[in-house]
Amino acid sequence: MLKNYLLAPGPTPVPPRVLLAMAQPIIHHRTPQFSRIFAETKNALQELFQTQQDVLMLAASGSGAMESAITNLFSPGDEVLVVNGGKFGERWMKISAAFGLKVTELRVEWGKSVTVDAVRQLLDERPAIRAVLVQASETSTTVVHPVEALANLTRQRDTLLVVDGITAVGVLDIPMDRWGIDVLVTGSQKALMLPPGLAFIALSERAWKRTKEGKVARFYFDLAKERDNQAKDTTAWTPAISLIIGLRESLAMIREEGLRRVFERHARMAAATRAAAHALDLRLVAPDAPSPAVTGMYTPADVDGGKLVAYLRDRMGVTFAGGQDQLKGKIVRIAHLGYMGAFDVVTAIAALEMALVHFGHRVPLGRGVGAAQEVLMAALPE
Ligand SMILES: *Cc1c(COP(=O)(O)O)cnc(C)c1O
Repeated sequence: MLKNYLLAPGPTPVPPRVLLAMAQPIIHHRTPQFSRIFAETKNALQELFQTQQDVLMLAASGSGAMESAITNLFSPGDEVLVVNGGKFGERWMKISAAFGLKVTELRVEWGKSVTVDAVRQLLDERPAIRAVLVQASETSTTVVHPVEALANLTRQRDTLLVVDGITAVGVLDIPMDRWGIDVLVTGSQKALMLPPGLAFIALSERAWKRTKEGKVARFYFDLAKERDNQAKDTTAWTPAISLIIGLRESLAMIREEGLRRVFERHARMAAATRAAAHALDLRLVAPDAPSPAVTGMYTPADVDGGKLVAYLRDRMGVTFAGGQDQLKGKIVRIAHLGYMGAFDVVTAIAALEMALVHFGHRVPLGRGVGAAQEVLMAALPE
């Protein structure tokens, strides 16, 4: 038997309590029984998003909510500014282009976060820009972008801030209303501790106004239609019933822990993972603004990162993510989000050390683990 540890930045592990809730016999969705559950989850989602706005639930992976933002808010030919510093920034570019938007790309070196000055300069130069599209946490390069500062810019103009928060919501503090974020998106299979299949999106007042002008064709992802249905505690189409029943549990777990403590837990796991990387002399992919959801580290020059990740997964039962495109074979990404805690970090680092040694890279076993433990000790209960 090989016991598996899923430590990738999505999908993430699902707690037994959530699995059991989803294992119940299916119920019909046009019933008071389902509507009660739905009402509970929609309210809890507002707490999670820190918004008074409706948080809509779509049956899709996270990209579905990203696409819905584009198709509901814009018209073909509208100019948008995309912060492109990784695979998910690239996804904003591709979706925008697919629906005929005019994309102005702000390219950011992989592993770096965008500077507010660069965005301000482009917005000043190009007043036609209707929105800034960005990731709060760019999972592919393990960096965070300065969403609060970007919101300070966009709030003062007729420019929307559209944020992919897929590894940020439920990981770090991203108060939608307080910061003035116009669109915030997440998915079920990351911090929400669910299988893939649900996507969530919330819009500010002024973003809702834009939906009335947007001329891109849309049908399945019609957010105004979805909002009308949600007001009646139902969905436009058949919802992902079992996932929503699971969502009620996972949101209850988040509420029981408390958002503040959820953020602290993620920050601590990330700090412990970075401390281990430092102790093992592994360079961070995003040293300046590392994501609390996932830590990327370069593998040593004498070790093929692709082989390392495959060996860890297939022979040791520990799933990390590798690098994509120019980072392929060069990095490992160790996730610490969702249903994870201190000993997932310890497991991750112990496995990493063992795999490095297996591939001939001499590190003293336990050095990274010890460094992680030092950080984790600080949060040990009395
Ligand atoms: C995982 C992830 C996505 C999403 O997409 P899926 O469509 O759910 O595969 C988008 N953006 C970020 C930042 C992510 O981490």
